[in-house]
Amino acid sequence: MSDSGDLQVTHVALLPSAGMGHLTPFLRLAALLTAHNVHVTFITPSPTVSLAESQSLSHLFTTFPQITQKHLHLLPLDQPSANSEDPFYYHFELIRRSSHLLPPLLSSLCPPLSAIITDMSLVSTVTPLTDSLGLPNYIFFTSSAKMLTIYVSFHTMLGPNHEIEDHTKVSGLEQIPKAWIPPPLLQGGNNLLKTFFIENGKKMTESSGILVNTYESIERETLAALNEGKVLRKLPSVIAIGPLAPCTFEESQQLAWLDDQLTGSVLYVSFGSRTAMSRDQIRELGDGLVRSGCRFLWAVKDKKVDVEDDEKLIEVLGQGLLERVKENGLAVKNWLNQEEILSHPAIGGFLSHCGWNSLTEALWNGVRILAWPQHGDQKINADLVERIGLGTWDKSWGWGEGEMLVKAQVIAERVREIMGNKLLRLQTDHIREEARMAVGDGGSSTKRLYALIETWKRVQ
Ligand code: UDP
Ligand code: UDP
Repeated sequence: MSDSGDLQVTHVALLPSAGMGHLTPFLRLAALLTAHNVHVTFITPSPTVSLAESQSLSHLFTTFPQITQKHLHLLPLDQPSANSEDPFYYHFELIRRSSHLLPPLLSSLCPPLSAIITDMSLVSTVTPLTDSLGLPNYIFFTSSAKMLTIYVSFHTMLGPNHEIEDHTKVSGLEQIPKAWIPPPLLQGGNNLLKTFFIENGKKMTESSGILVNTYESIERETLAALNEGKVLRKLPSVIAIGPLAPCTFEESQQLAWLDDQLTGSVLYVSFGSRTAMSRDQIRELGDGLVRSGCRFLWAVKDKKVDVEDDEKLIEVLGQGLLERVKENGLAVKNWLNQEEILSHPAIGGFLSHCGWNSLTEALWNGVRILAWPQHGDQKINADLVERIGLGTWDKSWGWGEGEMLVKAQVIAERVREIMGNKLLRLQTDHIREEARMAVGDGGSSTKRLYALIETWKRVQ
């Protein structure tokens, strides 16, 4: 039966960072906690970088009126030079520089907070503030447990000139090829991503716990190494709570074209919310998809930030390619509800950059992946895709970031291979089952989440 703590409201604040890759798991976590009777205050750094973020936030608050919204109004930076960096990383920095606005906001909340859950990119600035308030601060790491091992050890891998040493060895785990490390981390000198990794990575030890959107059966060894102190001594508990289920509040769309396709026949092609390919690569890709002879649904993205992506499809693809695409596919140049697409019976494969959310959505729906990592954590994720049998990765394609032009013929071959691979179908069915078991009744992630909520009840 319920103990006296159950009578009180457990109140937790969530503080996400910039970009859909960081926001989406926070939205899902907010919905999950709400379903478990935790009162959630969702802090929204404003303004957002992309339209996709502001729209997703408004869906959240419309669907869950019981969630409290608080704005963190971002202050402009006095050093505009930082603006030459990636717009999303620049925004991380804006949030970090505005974080002194948090303490009055947090202490004004009623009932008082049991904990705050902070995005991984904000650890080093938020931790001293929550410490001064005596507020438990949990970090939500929005990528894989494997990426977390790099995050917490990166500062130990650097030589005297702040350059990464030849060996990218995370203690307790096998060597990670240098070619898989996010390229900005390998550059000499400083850049925002590198600074974030160093500063936040060091401070992770001071948090109350680290939540990761992953689960035992896909990252058992890595989670064990982290929790047994093999990666870093004194790391707080790493709590696998995933895969976070997609939420029904994510807007529904009509895609009559997809409804008309045969079961499992369509390859969905998308590189996430913030990856724009070069025009040349977009056209090679389109040519490759047409040549593959497979049916495909292709989300074309020409600019990193959606509000700037205003050229028409015909301008990006050219008249000739646009006509050929229509022979066996559909190309669109707008935001698609990816979760709805991946759960559609017509979808049989996913050509993906392997953003961590895309990967978890694919396994949730048992959709096989043809991996084409573009930047950031995506090669580490693509490696996991191969290891767990979720799909294939042609390493010779390199990074998408202009490293090389992958030709249409090669793309067509890989697409045909993945769509014709029957073994993968069996494996992905199994992966889907395990993913759902982890967050089902008595599942490993469900148990961890319950234990966490109990801990919060005790601090009230
Ligand atoms: N997404 C979507 N529609 C799009 C592009 C992306 O719904 O047209 C969603 C996708 O389902 C995922 C998130 O945006 O939940 C992107 O996160 P991910 O980690 O996959 O990659 P990122 O965009 O951060 O590179
Ligand atoms: N990242 C990180 N800490 C930061 C900023 C970024 O660990 O402070 C990671 C991020 O999750 C991913 C990689 O660096 O592993 C690329 O960054 P980002 O997530 O912004 O790119 P995205 O996944 O959205 O494409």
